This record gives sequence, structure tokens and C-alpha cells, in this order.
Amino acid sequence: MALDATTKATLEAALVAAAATTICPICGTDGLELLPGVLLIPLQPDAKELSLAGAQSPMCLRGCRNCGYVAMHCMGILDPWLKRDLRTNTPDHPWD
Ligand SMILES: [Zn+2]
Repeated sequence: MALDATTKATLEAALVAAAATTICPICGTDGLELLPGVLLIPLQPDAKELSLAGAQSPMCLRGCRNCGYVAMHCMGILDPWLKRDLRTNTPDHPWD
């Protein structure tokens, strides 16, 4: 899933507001940049049983242009507007 321009701009602004640096924690270069897609993390309601049918948390990713390190940022924490299940486009995350 590629990020549309509005979502990308919202995320970039939210990362700046959160003081999320673009300095890579691995190689130290100023090289972290937003990747063009998101990663959906399944939220497991029960640690004893694996289920893929529950809510998912969308994560935006920033990759280092120098060493390839990838950082994840929870989109729902960065910006409440982005706090939704991207499969159904509904705001049904457990933290609501
Ligand atoms: Zn790096």
C-alpha cells in the first residue's frame, strides 16, 4: 500500500512534531527517510493463541539511505487521524 501525498505530509509533520530525528541510530548519518508504504502489525489479544483475525496497527517506516536500518513508528500514536484499521478504514483499534 503506497502512501498518498496527504498521508505522507501528515506523517512527516507528525514526525517533526514528535522530534523524531532523521539521524540513523546505527550509522549516525542524517539518512532516515519515509518509505513509500506502511506495515500492518497484527495485534494479538491473547499471548497464548496466535490469531490473524484481530485488529492491526499500521506502522510507517523510515529507512536509512546509508546502511539500510529501518525504524517503525506507530501511525495511530503519531496522528489520531491515521488511527484506523487500513483494511476496513474504520477506527476500531483497541486504544480507542
Ligand atoms: Zn544508517
